[in-house]
Amino acid sequence: MLGKRELATLFASDPEKYYKVALFEQEGFKRYECSKCTKYFWSQVDRDFCPDHEYYSFIGNPPTNKRFDYINAWKQIESFFESSSHSIIRRYPVVCRWREDLYFTIASVVDFQRIMEDKVVFELPSNPLLVPQMSLRFNDIENVGLTGRHYTGFCMIGQTCNADANGGYWKDRCVELDYQMLTNILGIRSHEIVFVEDVWLGAGAFGYSLEFYVNGLELGNAVFTEFEGNENNYRIMDNRIIDMGAGLERLSWITMGTPTSYDCAFGPVIQKLVDRLSINENSDVLSKYFTAASGRIDDQNNDMVLLKQSVAKSLDMSYDDLSKTVSPYEAIYTVADHTRTLLFAIADGAIPSNVGGGYNLRVILRRAISILEKMGWNLRLDDVTDLHIDYLKRMYPELEEHINDVRTILQIESDRYVGSNERMHAVATSIKNSNRRLSVDDLIRMYESDGITPDYLERAGSIDKIPSTFYTRLADLHTDQKVAQTHKQSFNLGSIAPTRTLYYEDMSMRSFRAKVNRIIDGKYIILDQTAFYPRGGGQEPDRGVLGSIPVIDVTKQRDVIVHKLQNRPDFIEGQVIDGIVSSIRRDSITKHHTATHILNSSARHELGSWVWQNSAFKEEDYGRLDITHHSALSNEELWNIEQKANEIVRQNLPVLINTYGRGIAENLYTFRIYQGGVVPSNSVRIVNINNWDIEACGGTHVAKTGEIGIIKIVKSERIQDGIIRLEFVAGEAALKHLQRQESQLTSISKSLGSSKENVVESLHKMISESESNKKKIKTILRKTSPLVATYISNTARELQNRNIKVFSTFDEELDEEYHITIGEKSIEVDPNLIYIALISRGQGLRVIVFVGENAREKIYAGAIAKQLSVELGGSGRGDERFGQGGGKYKDKIGDTLKSIEQLIIKEYIRTDNKGSQHE
Ligand SMILES: [Zn+2]
Ligand SMILES: [Zn+2]
Repeated sequence: MLGKRELATLFASDPEKYYKVALFEQEGFKRYECSKCTKYFWSQVDRDFCPDHEYYSFIGNPPTNKRFDYINAWKQIESFFESSSHSIIRRYPVVCRWREDLYFTIASVVDFQRIMEDKVVFELPSNPLLVPQMSLRFNDIENVGLTGRHYTGFCMIGQTCNADANGGYWKDRCVELDYQMLTNILGIRSHEIVFVEDVWLGAGAFGYSLEFYVNGLELGNAVFTEFEGNENNYRIMDNRIIDMGAGLERLSWITMGTPTSYDCAFGPVIQKLVDRLSINENSDVLSKYFTAASGRIDDQNNDMVLLKQSVAKSLDMSYDDLSKTVSPYEAIYTVADHTRTLLFAIADGAIPSNVGGGYNLRVILRRAISILEKMGWNLRLDDVTDLHIDYLKRMYPELEEHINDVRTILQIESDRYVGSNERMHAVATSIKNSNRRLSVDDLIRMYESDGITPDYLERAGSIDKIPSTFYTRLADLHTDQKVAQTHKQSFNLGSIAPTRTLYYEDMSMRSFRAKVNRIIDGKYIILDQTAFYPRGGGQEPDRGVLGSIPVIDVTKQRDVIVHKLQNRPDFIEGQVIDGIVSSIRRDSITKHHTATHILNSSARHELGSWVWQNSAFKEEDYGRLDITHHSALSNEELWNIEQKANEIVRQNLPVLINTYGRGIAENLYTFRIYQGGVVPSNSVRIVNINNWDIEACGGTHVAKTGEIGIIKIVKSERIQDGIIRLEFVAGEAALKHLQRQESQLTSISKSLGSSKENVVESLHKMISESESNKKKIKTILRKTSPLVATYISNTARELQNRNIKVFSTFDEELDEEYHITIGEKSIEVDPNLIYIALISRGQGLRVIVFVGENAREKIYAGAIAKQLSVELGGSGRGDERFGQGGGKYKDKIGDTLKSIEQLIIKEYIRTDNKGSQHE
């Protein structure tokens, strides 16, 4: 594969061809080589070095007379590109549902990328287009709020164009438009603009790029993806792509020249928080400090302590005084960033958790709360998100629709944080007392296992300061990359033609004729066409017969469907055979599948917009649906979900299935359609339940919801943080389930000697009777135990005249409680006694050992319990008086008891020779 260096050499060798655009000629941009890093760049005025080595000279002195805050900057740029024939596209969700390899949308171009067979393909809904894409990245968390320019969420304005499709243009037009945006729209003087040459390479494609800078600040990067292939074999793509990305935060900043980009990116939010929290504004010190902080360039190390020391010195103030003035602002900037990211993510359906993409959301949420606590501010996260929504609604009106969802999730997560505070307090105190020094690894382990944030430990005085690499290391452990797909069994299919899918053409087809194309390993059959539905999308495969042989599995590989037979076939390749699909099974699976869609939407209606299908499974006699939700479900919530689902069944709504182009389907029905995951093809099959539930799905479905009859949820559990599992039955399976429960009820009521109507009452009565019986038995046991103990003492065997007695028993009737009471009493009555009981419990054994006071001088109960249990195939432990354990080899009981006597005798001889253990 071509490396970045080789590519740079290749393109730099012919700048006229690759980098020189018409504008450079027209406007007098000349090519220079950087004297410091040898990069090439284009500028109207002579320069020695590229902007990489330049301080941010625009702070306090912007290179334009125009001033645009965040939203106004967008409005200006939007109308400029609109008047230049670009379609303005609404932002895509920040939760990247259309790519299996990403949790979050990390750049504007991701919107239009689809992965097909490991290759990136571009699908543009219009050409050319402009999109204000909110993008999330979690690889620089600790710099956020401090450096003046780092964010976890930022708006990347994407100017995207397919050069070879209708309306397309290539690099001359692109750079001309970007130049006009900078000069005419933002009012930047042209000699301040520098274009730097760079290269770009991605999956199977590469190109060259021009980054544009003003006063040391990179504002955007225009990437021209022209080639596909590798070093030795590449060619010009049929559809060359322009991907220009520019950070809106920076475009606004360059016109405002504020000390940090946060001051303009968050609109009035920062000032509102400053007023509300009555923070001291020493604007001179703040401006000097943050100008210095923002102006630092990337290749210097980001040690903020050093920076503060040097700025304090230059201002002739103490480090502490400077920190006191600056830190409230750092806190506000950080909280403003983190809450804005959470706002977009939650509005787009993500929830914080400890797995997957939710992980980093919880990290920044807890960090934001920790900061508010540290500063002692009485401020809630949703107070801040409300301010963001109020400002951003002109640009992103959809945020306001989700205001309540965002509040709900932030509240639940904040409560959880408070709940974990007690535990954090205990841990922090113990660290402080032990004087232990914690490494970054220790801190990561504590965060991962107990949710203990380093911010908390710092505040509690358990650590001096948060290691600067903590959040980066944490984010590295949970990258944006999802785990690769699991491996499936595969056959070498060679050139076998795709199987015609009769089950799609006529979903009611249950018998068909087909030609046998191939028989693999004597039992895998490939036909030219089939009505057998293969396993896929969580739907289990059909069963039935081919010829006269039962079909036990059906799978799909590429476009070929493979039937697995129970026995060797009674037909050969080339023969035409009959196939029959089991109707009962297919109908039942089909009902469960449509029921899954209905339950999914019912749950979303009942619980909130963050509910998505996480996964699903549809069998003949039951279905399973895992949804994303923050807490376990209450009975009331379950009832309401079930109620709503059955209402949809009774309404007998039509289920319409149509196929659309992918872009059209996404546009018409939004990314909500991807409940079952990403669809890896250009056309999308949409299953639409009367516009109430719309999903992309390849499964089989009923024609009208009434066919399902009934949907009954039988079980619900929280299977992991953020995921709730619903198990359910539908149609005949539901009826069978109810009948089974009815017959269980009948048998219970019979045993209780009551009617079914009174079964609960009778049961309660029986339980209370049984409890009072238990009490009686305990009383009897207590009263008779001295007698039994005396009897045991009398019958216990004396071991080799050593003044020691062993009583052992194997009991299949009485329980542990009995033997504990009797054992205790027995060693009280006889201090020379060792009491051993092996108690049968289910498939296994319990071991109970008591050792009397005198006997204890020689051997411990725990040692006996341990030896016994090990020999019986388990483990045991205890102290000198009482030991317990368990095992499973019931046939070894006799031998084991004998060996224990040996053990005891051995211990006695040993300690007799050495004297007592207690000396
Ligand atoms: Zn340079
Ligand atoms: Zn489905």
